[in-house]
Amino acid sequence: MNRLDNKIAIITGGANGQGAVEAELFIEAGAKVVITDINSTAGEETAARLGDKCTFVQHDVSSEEDWARVVQTTLDLHGQIDVLVNNAGIFKVLTLEETDLKVWEQTVAINQTGVFLGMRAVAPAMKQKKSGSIVNISSIAGLTSAKAHAYCATKWAVRGMSKAAAVEFGPSNIRVNSVHPGFIDTPMLDAHGVPREQLVAKVPLGRTAEVIEVARVVLFLASEDSSYCTGHEFVVDGAIKA
Ligand code: NAD
Repeated sequence: MNRLDNKIAIITGGANGQGAVEAELFIEAGAKVVITDINSTAGEETAARLGDKCTFVQHDVSSEEDWARVVQTTLDLHGQIDVLVNNAGIFKVLTLEETDLKVWEQTVAINQTGVFLGMRAVAPAMKQKKSGSIVNISSIAGLTSAKAHAYCATKWAVRGMSKAAAVEFGPSNIRVNSVHPGFIDTPMLDAHGVPREQLVAKVPLGRTAEVIEVARVVLFLASEDSSYCTGHEFVVDGAIKA
């Protein structure tokens, strides 16, 4: 028996980076996965590479209509939703004074409103089944300060929203947790605009993380291995914030 046998998962931002690796790991663990992304070219490529257990749906996480379509497509295809990974996100390295209203609103729309819309959209199907796991990808910027003001604000919000949803959905046996990666080896890391050596120097483990090292924690939270874990933060940062 694999850890996600007979499970149906939606992973946002699944075209690239961590979302694509999570999709691959989930499929290896027995799941069928719907990956969504704003980038349809990369999304179609990833779905084709992952095979017939993966479907791509073009999706802007900040759109309520898009969420309704993603949920309906998943239910039409598979009849149930067991796992939602709210992974899509953007990262602008801008201080408070450098952040204009447009960047602020775009970051909130994708990183925060997207998570709200996603949790609300899958809740009816999970409640009907009386089970589900929602994994919201925050950041170490959702635990302490960061020189990326809007990003930091949204990642703290995701942490609080995850706790509130865990309490609200607990009686329906829907678990909600947040994951807080540190420096993960994806193109997003380059947005820091500093050489990797300078980032690595801040990490007690002495390296950035491979994407799979976050994906394994997300798999743990998606599966019944974490059946009594809900409402909490799971930090994957090599002790940067210890
Ligand atoms: P990534 O840029 O490789 O992936 C993000 C994905 O989200 C992309 O495929 C992008 O097209 C998609 N996306 C962007 N806007 C979207 C929208 N409006 N609707 C749907 N999809 C959209 O980055 P990643 O490192 O894989 O990031 C995944 C998550 O991990 C993000 O939430 C990010 O904030 C978080 N995170 C990353 C790091 C890191 O070091 N890479 C650290 C902490 C947290």
